[in-house]
Amino acid sequence: MIMKPLEKLVRKNIWSLAPYSSARDEYSGKEAHVFLDANENPYNAPYNRYPDPLQREVKQLLERVKGVPAENIFLGNGSDEAIDLPYRIFCEPGRDNVVSIAPTYGMYQVCADINDIECRQVLLDDHFQLHADAVLKACDEHTKIIWLCSPNNPTGNSLDRDEILKVIEGFEGIVIVDEAYIDFAHQQSLRQELPSHPNLIILQTMSKAWGSAAIRLGMAFASKEIISIYNKVKYPYNVNQLTQQQAMEMLKDPFEVDKYVKMLLQERSRLIQAFHELPICEQIYPTDANFFLARVTDAQSIYNYLVDKGIIVRNRSRIQLCQNCLRITIGTRTENNELLSALRQY
Ligand SMILES: *Cc1c(COP(=O)(O)O)cnc(C)c1O
Repeated sequence: MIMKPLEKLVRKNIWSLAPYSSARDEYSGKEAHVFLDANENPYNAPYNRYPDPLQREVKQLLERVKGVPAENIFLGNGSDEAIDLPYRIFCEPGRDNVVSIAPTYGMYQVCADINDIECRQVLLDDHFQLHADAVLKACDEHTKIIWLCSPNNPTGNSLDRDEILKVIEGFEGIVIVDEAYIDFAHQQSLRQELPSHPNLIILQTMSKAWGSAAIRLGMAFASKEIISIYNKVKYPYNVNQLTQQQAMEMLKDPFEVDKYVKMLLQERSRLIQAFHELPICEQIYPTDANFFLARVTDAQSIYNYLVDKGIIVRNRSRIQLCQNCLRITIGTRTENNELLSALRQY
């Protein structure tokens, strides 16, 4: 195991941080019935009470659904929070750097910029594949985090599992694998690699397969040592009560998600097949997600044409390796048909 001791990776001020202790932290037992400890209003139930700062009931359900112990789970206000926190935990502004693949999800770079951290980008190959050696070569003694995303956005493909593991095992810092689209993938989640890889953080979200982007709930899975630092740095009540309740509703019936995924995968292959027949279609890249990336004849003008018809896709043309590419999310059967018939008339 070549991982540096956690104490060497975490910023000094964070390692020694005494976290804010809320009323709900200090008393969390069940037996009491008079709560006069948090300056809450006794009226307007159930919205008058602060939510559980550690979202214990949600994590209990997640433990069952994901097979990850609650102590290895962090919940945040979307993945956004779980992406931002590691910068604040591990990276010294103006000194440390992170390495990410390119093209990939834009938030890693934006959060790096906000936190004044250099984000080094390592281009994927022509098949949007990862080469561990290239990523590891971009690291130096100030590299704290490597960002991987599999299935990747905006390309849609899964990264090669062996190459991901090579990165994790060959790096002494933290490797974060964003699995926002894993429920749509053939590949298995890396969740079961957590016990043997203490430098691994896995991100998942309720926003995609779970159909719950509105509630803003992101997850990080990692060692309990890393999770406890996440919990120390986060806002005390970072996941609100309504979100926790709705998440529990969803998690009690995980088979609903399987139905969404099945429908979307069926629609994905139907849409891709039909897309191949369109005169505007030049290439469709392999996808393991609920969207696909297509190289078309003229991305900007097709994008504008679709906007005129009230159909919005994502123009990814200006991104490296994605010239003339549109990223198309799989919708309902009706929506997908509307897209296809519009494009047939282009
Ligand atoms: C959509 C997406 C997310 C989800 O972000 P939330 O803040 O949880 O909605 C995370 N990572 C990637 C790569 C995504 O495409």
